[in-house]
Amino acid sequence: MNIKVVFNSDRIKEDFSIGWGLSLLLDDKILFDTGESAKSLINNMNKMEIDISLIEAVVISHDHWDHTGGLWEILKQRPNINVYGCPGFGVAFKDKISDISAKLIEDDNFTLVTSGIYSTGEIIGEYKGEDISEQALIIKTDKGFSVITGCAHPGIIKILERVRMQLSLKEFYTVLGGFHLKDYSIKDVKEIVKKFTELKVMRVGPTHCSGSDAEQIFQEKYGNAFIEAKVGQVISV
Ligand SMILES: [Zn+2]
Ligand SMILES: [Zn+2]
Repeated sequence: MNIKVVFNSDRIKEDFSIGWGLSLLLDDKILFDTGESAKSLINNMNKMEIDISLIEAVVISHDHWDHTGGLWEILKQRPNINVYGCPGFGVAFKDKISDISAKLIEDDNFTLVTSGIYSTGEIIGEYKGEDISEQALIIKTDKGFSVITGCAHPGIIKILERVRMQLSLKEFYTVLGGFHLKDYSIKDVKEIVKKFTELKVMRVGPTHCSGSDAEQIFQEKYGNAFIEAKVGQVISV
């Protein structure tokens, strides 16, 4: 399966738009998060020759502006597709979805999105002193199981532990996305990296809100198994 990086804060070519947020396209049909702005997202999709009419569903990891920004333009072009969210998403988000008569599926538990792609269902974390609902995606291919995260506000290890238990996994092929370690101390990041090796994560792609310290520490540990996720890149899982 291919994962195309359609929005992030770094790029492989100047033509692509960058900014704060994340958006990944799985096998040209499942869009995971939509970055901070529709204009940037659509520009990147056009430059990557992505056919928006082939998008079958959008999965929103959590209700933060840097993950939902491009959603509304995608839904203008693809009004009848499913949007996967969590029950705990904000009222404003849910109202906006119902105002445009889009179909919101509120995953509260492990859910099949399409063949080989599952949502973890809602995982509750804390953000700025309040509860936050977030879901991650699980991808199953002949290479193994991979996990894609938006910001991992509930904690990247909590998410991986939950997936490991849900599926009785012995290892993860790839873990990619925002790990939200940007405010962690070096010592705490090293603890997380150690847990990744204990969980037998084979390849790792910390990006977005993971923080540059964490990216560097993961890169030192993982070497060739470290994945960059710049706009324009295609990652195979
Ligand atoms: Zn974020
Ligand atoms: Zn967030």
